Amino acid sequence: MDRMTELVQKLNEYAYRYYTLDEPIVSDKEYDILYDELVALEKESGIVLPDSPTHRVGGELLKQFESYVHKQRLYSLAKSQTFGELESWWTRCANALGQEKFLCSVEYKYDGLTVNLSYKDGNLVRATTRGNGEKGEVVTSGAKTIRTIPLTIPFKGEIEVQGECIMRLSELEKYNNTHDIPLKNARNAAAGALRNLDPKVTAERHLDFMAYSVGYSDITFQSQKEMVDFLVKNKFRIGDYVKFADNMADIQELISEIEGQRNSLDYLIDGAVIKIDAQNYRNELGFTEKSPRWAIAYKYEAEEVTTILKDVIWQVSRTGKLNPLAVLEPVELCGATISRATLNNLDDIAKKGVKIGSRVFIRRSNDVIPEILGVAEDNNGTTIIPPDKCPSCGGDVEVNGAFVYCTNKENCGAVHISRLDHFASREAMNIEGLSERTILQLYNLGFLRDIDDIYDLTAGQLIQAEGFKDKKVNNILTAIKNSKNVSLDRFVYSLGIANIGKKSAKQLADKFKSLENLQSATMEDLLNMDDFGEIMATGVYNYFNDDANIKLIQNLLEKGVKIEFKEQKEGVLTGINICLTGSISIPRGKAKQLIIDNGGSVSDSVSKNVNVVVYGEDAGSKLEKAKKLGIELWTEKEFFEKINYSG
Ligand code: NAD
Repeated sequence: MDRMTELVQKLNEYAYRYYTLDEPIVSDKEYDILYDELVALEKESGIVLPDSPTHRVGGELLKQFESYVHKQRLYSLAKSQTFGELESWWTRCANALGQEKFLCSVEYKYDGLTVNLSYKDGNLVRATTRGNGEKGEVVTSGAKTIRTIPLTIPFKGEIEVQGECIMRLSELEKYNNTHDIPLKNARNAAAGALRNLDPKVTAERHLDFMAYSVGYSDITFQSQKEMVDFLVKNKFRIGDYVKFADNMADIQELISEIEGQRNSLDYLIDGAVIKIDAQNYRNELGFTEKSPRWAIAYKYEAEEVTTILKDVIWQVSRTGKLNPLAVLEPVELCGATISRATLNNLDDIAKKGVKIGSRVFIRRSNDVIPEILGVAEDNNGTTIIPPDKCPSCGGDVEVNGAFVYCTNKENCGAVHISRLDHFASREAMNIEGLSERTILQLYNLGFLRDIDDIYDLTAGQLIQAEGFKDKKVNNILTAIKNSKNVSLDRFVYSLGIANIGKKSAKQLADKFKSLENLQSATMEDLLNMDDFGEIMATGVYNYFNDDANIKLIQNLLEKGVKIEFKEQKEGVLTGINICLTGSISIPRGKAKQLIIDNGGSVSDSVSKNVNVVVYGEDAGSKLEKAKKLGIELWTEKEFFEKINYSG
């Protein structure tokens, strides 16, 4: 009982912060763990405390808002986290309906704020939040600023349309780049924007509305399909993913497909929603106190958790910049233990208000290392201040705007090692075997310092590195030799010029076409390039006009590095990255050449950077993965038709 009382109190406090104030202090994952514990205790004891969140929808309403009693109650959704739990739900429904198969819709579960829109005589008369399910807060003026909420609809009867209000991640990024206090996450940002008394604030955040259901209405629908058609006819934006299946195996496949798409979407989804299609089945199954029995959410692994920021270390980069890296109390996130996260720069630290000792929200990002979103609890932490000496070489440190630099970068070991490591990396010169660990050893042995030293390495030197045998030595020497023939874009990227990543290196190569042209580019030439601002242009200009760099490039050329530039052909496949799989009727090399000749690029593996997978007979795991990721698929015939190839 004590534990139950404690859990109810805690969960209600968290729900108040989350639903009412839009300022959560724990992650959904942490909330869900406590919630599940409470559900288990209630089941075991048969006792449900009167204010238990397991029997209530949502949270308290804010007094500032006028409240409105929904014409039809709004519900939450039962959740499942494993296919086993989902199958139990299916079996319960199947038994109750006396059916083995029944059609279900499978949709994205948007992670935003539920909104209920009331229309009368074709006009939007009210928008309300879900609130506690029975009563919501009136947010009409804010909702009217959302372009995907139609102000008038063709249907003239009385109707309530429900959907999710979301903020796109690209909008969140734009907002955070231009405002002093960043928004922590898109869900709270959307909820906070809509539940704001000033509609200008709502308008500024460019929210979107995805309609997924009709609540109260003058007309009845026989199925979800009919309902979705009605929403489309009435100019609503329905969700981007609504598919149908009538058995568990197919439903599970759709759920996996959605999971594969999750990271490439421009908004947050936290799962999939499965709803039985037929209205008569829904009527038969009915509702519990909290959720419909005819629908269930399948929740994916949480991508956000909170943990304590224990310390900040300053990592010296190849440009001499000291990058703050957060040391975290290790925490599980998406199947990995996370103990480090990026903090970007001093401005980012100040904007987010993070301190050593704070409990912070972290989110998995597409990069290897997760990002800190903001503070959950301050905990009287200590302010983060940059070091006054470089942690690697002990040289003086200079703070320039949001960034911290080692002023001794020409003699700083960490800068040298980081430059060498970048130069040898896969996407740069691709010297297989020359890992950071090996570089560090060779550096300490005195064989490596500047990047051109790589081309002077001898077998006699390499064999001195720990664990090196003849085979490894030969492999590295071959990799070094092979790296000497390199495309211009790779070479430019390998130099490690500040702010020049792979994409901008390619832009530079495409524009200047030779190293000599690039070396003699003027500031004006560089500023004329698309997306090249003052900072990038100055960085490139300064790099190629610096005596030490001029000497370095000369050394690399003298040591045999040959740079080539191949004009990218324009064609029907321009901008399309293609992966081939299965057996194709022409030789693989020829198929690849056809892609390149038509302006496309070839990828050997399936990832979200691939736009199209061309599959032949007996295609296996690559095709499966492509389906999961929702990548466009072409048969060999379709591919040939696109490029007008007839053998
Ligand atoms: P829920 O968010 O798990 O699911 C129900 C909601 O899903 C619906 O109300 C609807 O708004 C939404 N939804 C999205 N897409 C939909 C679609 N296609 N069709 C139908 N509905 C769709 O349930 P809930 O009751 O709103 O919230 C509970 C969850 O909120 C918890 O599991 C927890 O993760 C989170 N929460 C977090 C905290 C915290 O402090 N971090 C506190 C309270 C609740």
